[in-house]
Amino acid sequence: MKYVVCVPDGCADEPLAELGGRTPLQAASTETLDRLAARAELGRAAVIPQGLPPGSDVGNMSIFGYDPARYHTGRAPIEAAALGLKLRPDQVAYRCNLVTVGDDGTMVDFAGGHPGNEAAAAAIEALDAALGGDGLELHPGVQYRHILVAPAEWAEAECTPPHDLTGKPAVGPTGPAAPFLQRVMDTSRDVLAGSGLAANQVWLWGQGFQPQMPSFQHAYGLDAALVTAVDLVRGLGVLTGIEVVDLETATGWYDTDYEGKRDVALDALADGADLFVIHVEATDEAGHAGDVEEKVRALENWDRRILAGLVEGLDRLGPWRLLLLPDHATPLALRTHTPDPVPYLLVDSAVDGPGGTYTEAGVADLPVVPGHELMARLVGRR
Ligand SMILES: [Zn+2]
Repeated sequence: MKYVVCVPDGCADEPLAELGGRTPLQAASTETLDRLAARAELGRAAVIPQGLPPGSDVGNMSIFGYDPARYHTGRAPIEAAALGLKLRPDQVAYRCNLVTVGDDGTMVDFAGGHPGNEAAAAAIEALDAALGGDGLELHPGVQYRHILVAPAEWAEAECTPPHDLTGKPAVGPTGPAAPFLQRVMDTSRDVLAGSGLAANQVWLWGQGFQPQMPSFQHAYGLDAALVTAVDLVRGLGVLTGIEVVDLETATGWYDTDYEGKRDVALDALADGADLFVIHVEATDEAGHAGDVEEKVRALENWDRRILAGLVEGLDRLGPWRLLLLPDHATPLALRTHTPDPVPYLLVDSAVDGPGGTYTEAGVADLPVVPGHELMARLVGRR
């Protein structure tokens, strides 16, 4: 048996006037998805447990079959894993954004003007030279997204994600460790002055210790692999021993290589992997941009450029089961994530389910199941 998990990031939405009162899932023309849904088990998945933030880290952890209420410690350690960092028990990781704060103290840009990787790395290395040692390490990541590793006692702080502060007063951390964090952020203002970057300081948030997740092989007895362009999803793969397949043409944007993702999935499954996770970010990006047309197009791309050929390829490999769901909703009207349950579809190549339509309305009256339990259902462990 082969298993595939399809994650159209943030695809769930709400009815929109621009779409004649339909959601993107209702408006998109998705022949293969419709055909699968007609013989699938459908329902609603609570991918974001109550009280946790509706982030892709939490939602994808659920989809991978791990209860975030038990395993999620913060966002930063997952991204640290994506960078190849292994935290010791006496270390905590923080997300370290390059940000732009105005003279009046408002958060102007949580992404610090989207610096190039090289210029950003130079700034982070300069900061490491100024502050590193004494258990502090700064590690360059991608663009504005970097990692600070600090002693465990630095974990005791309440921090606000900088993207929640846009246009508002950039209120710093509180709690016992706040003075340590504030010193790093203040020092970064001196280091970044004259760097030529639009960013003028770092912002620390999203801290956590290394999550203690059993390997996917241990938890589910299967060899798994995944493809994604997103650090968080890559990090979850590293933490669970799910092989991350590199695909240079995966961009995390509308122009990503849909066929390439489909083909690496089929190749890995043909080469012996039992389960493959295909993650595509385009639907979420369209949601954040409020771009109705791109969100519908991304769903149609999923259907024509991934699902159609995927089903054909899977049929050639033998019996299969497929699970499809997003990691959270990213409604176009809100342009941000919501914690509401999302529609899921579980289909078996040989056994017909009750069938239905894979839309928000199509599952509205169906029961809600914890998102992290779907993996066990997919692989027949319950
Ligand atoms: Zn997401």
